[in-house]
Amino acid sequence: MRAVVQNDKNRTLRALWVRGGIAVLAVAAVVSGCASPDGAQVRPAAGPQHLQAPPARALDSYAAKLRAAHAARVAATRHWKLAAVPLTAPPPPAKKPVIKARKGFEVDDQEELNLPPVFTTVPTKDKVVFLTIDDGSEKDPAFLRMMSDLKIPYTAFLTDKEIRDDYGYFRRMQAQGHTLNNHTLTHPYLPGLSYREQKREICGMQKVMKKQFGRAPTVLRPPFGNYNRDTLVAAKSCGIKYAPIWDEEVYVDHWEYREDDRDLHPGDIVLTHFRGRDEWKGTMVDDMRRFLNRVTAEGYAVARLEDYL
Ligand SMILES: [Zn+2]
Repeated sequence: MRAVVQNDKNRTLRALWVRGGIAVLAVAAVVSGCASPDGAQVRPAAGPQHLQAPPARALDSYAAKLRAAHAARVAATRHWKLAAVPLTAPPPPAKKPVIKARKGFEVDDQEELNLPPVFTTVPTKDKVVFLTIDDGSEKDPAFLRMMSDLKIPYTAFLTDKEIRDDYGYFRRMQAQGHTLNNHTLTHPYLPGLSYREQKREICGMQKVMKKQFGRAPTVLRPPFGNYNRDTLVAAKSCGIKYAPIWDEEVYVDHWEYREDDRDLHPGDIVLTHFRGRDEWKGTMVDDMRRFLNRVTAEGYAVARLEDYL
């Protein structure tokens, strides 16, 4: 076994010399691809290390970190009773995609005024979807633990009316690396309001978020996905750059689709809600289990929306 490992290591080291960083990436792909949960093909030599060159040591420690991260994910998969280990998202794109309003979702002067685009899918070939979670009424500590254990990124669209009784819950979410975004003060049907009223709903929430979370968002989701030109003009006036809605919606007991093919597509934005047993036949954990099992079974990873914006 030792000899095989050593040969592998020599080969890897040679590749490292020949191709520089590419070899490191190749090892990363093997380890994070989760093809072999016990990581047998990259098991380190148990005895003294014969290759003491800095690149080899760096490679060993990088591979060891990846193995440890993968092992933790496998354990979390069991603990949270998922059907399969969630796939690891590729690195964020070096060049961000150009995001335009979805065809048919533009408003007058969309391009001329450079208004925040409304879109349902991010243009990418990466086999990823983006998880977005709205409103904020349910504040389930198990949900925070689950997503932290599994290292699943998501974006929360928050309504002040639903979160003001416990901003601290969302600060914990933010501290775990998730982005908090704007979903208005009171969750109204925005097109039914005047420009001034819409501005108060959107820009007022920007102020609340700056005060409570230290940062005014650049992303707004209009409640119910409903908006008009005034919505986007008001949003732009207080720093909003994007207005993503969604292509699929997950409930604790079913999925709903915008497209007739009822399928997932690379770059799709998926919506679910902070809801618990008082409103749904299940918990946030049940809801996430449904979401992750489907996404993983279809070969998608969950990526971070802000990495693509
Ligand atoms: Zn909502």
